[in-house]
Amino acid sequence: MKAGRNHGKNKPSAVSQAEEKEKKSETHRAGQTPIGLAVPGKKQPILLHACCAPCATHVIELLSRSYSVTALFYNPNIQPDDEYQRRLQAMRQLCQHTGTRLLVESSPVSVWDRWVQGLEDEPEQGRRCLRCFTGRLEYCVSTADRLGFPLVATTLTVSPRKPAGAINAIGVSVAANARTCYLESDFKKQDGFKRSCELSKSYNLFRQNYCGCLYSLRDRDAL
Ligand code: SF4
Repeated sequence: MKAGRNHGKNKPSAVSQAEEKEKKSETHRAGQTPIGLAVPGKKQPILLHACCAPCATHVIELLSRSYSVTALFYNPNIQPDDEYQRRLQAMRQLCQHTGTRLLVESSPVSVWDRWVQGLEDEPEQGRRCLRCFTGRLEYCVSTADRLGFPLVATTLTVSPRKPAGAINAIGVSVAANARTCYLESDFKKQDGFKRSCELSKSYNLFRQNYCGCLYSLRDRDAL
């Protein structure tokens, strides 16, 4: 893994913890599109976990209105390697188009294998996927903490095939003891998914035809 995790280190004081908690209660609104915190003349930084370029299109467009967005591509679930490279290249292309900062982090596939061990035969949207979301969000929250981002969000809720409620519950849980706040979302709402398709087409981005892991590829091929 390229970066370590430092949960629990450099804890904020009691006062700042209370402020953080208050901030969290303002921003943790399940199922709503987030709205920027009002800081006149200044956009708050946010670290956006990007699962892929097509999903990130709409979210970057939306969040950039209120936040200073840095995208983080961290997806050790994507296999095989040529598919990973294709999706990463599409992400670079999108960030170049939109002028978005991009961080790329990676872990060996064996790390992802450990997350989902014993759940290989679960169907998509089952328990294997919950572990896959958890591993990626833990890493993103840890990175946001390490780099001093006050907020973190994920593009995972753009997909109509992914449960926003479960993803948000994981995000809130993994950020509970961190200094960063997880921003709840359901980015597919208000035609968000449709907008992501339009933008992907206009940017001529590569769009994958399976979720990412070899099991989802196997299931696609079995159809
Ligand atoms: S189907 Fe998608 S979300 Fe589920 S485990 Fe595979 S890559 Fe992760």
